[in-house]
Amino acid sequence: MLDIRIEKTTAPKQKPSADQPLGFGKIFTDHMFVMNYTEGQGWHDARIVPFSNISLSPAAMVYHYGQEMFEGLKAYKGADGKSYLFRPDMNAKRTNATNDRLVIPQIPVEDFVQAVKAVVKVDEDWIPTAPGTSLYVRPFIIATDEFLGVAPSKTYLFIIILSPSGAYYASGLKPVGIWIEDEYVRAVKGGMGFAKTGGNYAASLIAQVKAHDEGFSQVLWLDGVERKYIEEVGAMNIFFKINGTIVTPELSGSILPGITRDSVLNLCRNWGLPVEERKVSVDELLAAQADGSLEEVFGTGTAAVISPVGKLRYKDDIMTIADGDIGEISQKLYDTVTGIQLGKLDDPFGWRVCID
Ligand SMILES: *Cc1c(COP(=O)(O)O)cnc(C)c1O
Repeated sequence: MLDIRIEKTTAPKQKPSADQPLGFGKIFTDHMFVMNYTEGQGWHDARIVPFSNISLSPAAMVYHYGQEMFEGLKAYKGADGKSYLFRPDMNAKRTNATNDRLVIPQIPVEDFVQAVKAVVKVDEDWIPTAPGTSLYVRPFIIATDEFLGVAPSKTYLFIIILSPSGAYYASGLKPVGIWIEDEYVRAVKGGMGFAKTGGNYAASLIAQVKAHDEGFSQVLWLDGVERKYIEEVGAMNIFFKINGTIVTPELSGSILPGITRDSVLNLCRNWGLPVEERKVSVDELLAAQADGSLEEVFGTGTAAVISPVGKLRYKDDIMTIADGDIGEISQKLYDTVTGIQLGKLDDPFGWRVCID
């Protein structure tokens, strides 16, 4: 149990108005959670303070070798007016898996969840309520030692910032076009593809720019060795419905283990759909597309929840999926996950966590 000191701002900011377009990650609330780590002392000085710039030495290790991690989850206003999180313990567990890989000290799961709840509670009035909106929660950890040597830092900062965010799809679910990248790769087995860390994103930008230039909204990565098997999309895991079966790439070590991915697998199994976590090759997709058995493609991630894919491009092949429409399972999954998040549907798995 953390002992969190709270220092409220004396200069609250103007909150966005109810009809203001929020976009994503551009507006920040009045407060943030901060906690220090010092070798020998552990995590200490948990506090909620006014949102402000932080000051670090230009020699702080994070700036040079990228020892950092981040998480992403959302807080919602439920139909009952209370505030809710979705499976925050999963973000806490994944934080520790990422931390292990990056030699960052562990944070007890209860402390992580307590910190998220506490800071969201302080800025609860910032949770937007228009359909599809939410308060995006961004926990992150950075290495702060003033040292240019290559080694794990002995000091860290754990910070949580909050950002009211707009509906990912302002006018309802909309299928996206995705570029299957055959030149650059994101991660390899033994690397840090399963970890939520900035370095993976730094490695991805060049392909993202290329896909945008070609008129596609996101990149679908192939495995780093053979460039043959599907891995995941920029910030989403990927699912296919092939001949009635829900198929998603297995967690191989180079894929981010998405919480939305896990939720979708649970729901599909619960509905009695055949589900397979296995290798999926581009050739299999092209063949399934050719014989008409590639029925749906969708991405899963906290930001969009479910993102139907209407078009996939691989080299000179363009696959149009479900006639460019939203597939039946994609829509049902979107309605179910968001329904559970907002408290409009029963929560048989106990995924909703109330912030009291
Ligand atoms: C965060 C993330 C995802 C999605 O994970 P969720 O827990 O469902 O939000 C997928 N891929 C990458 C690379 C990510 O960083």
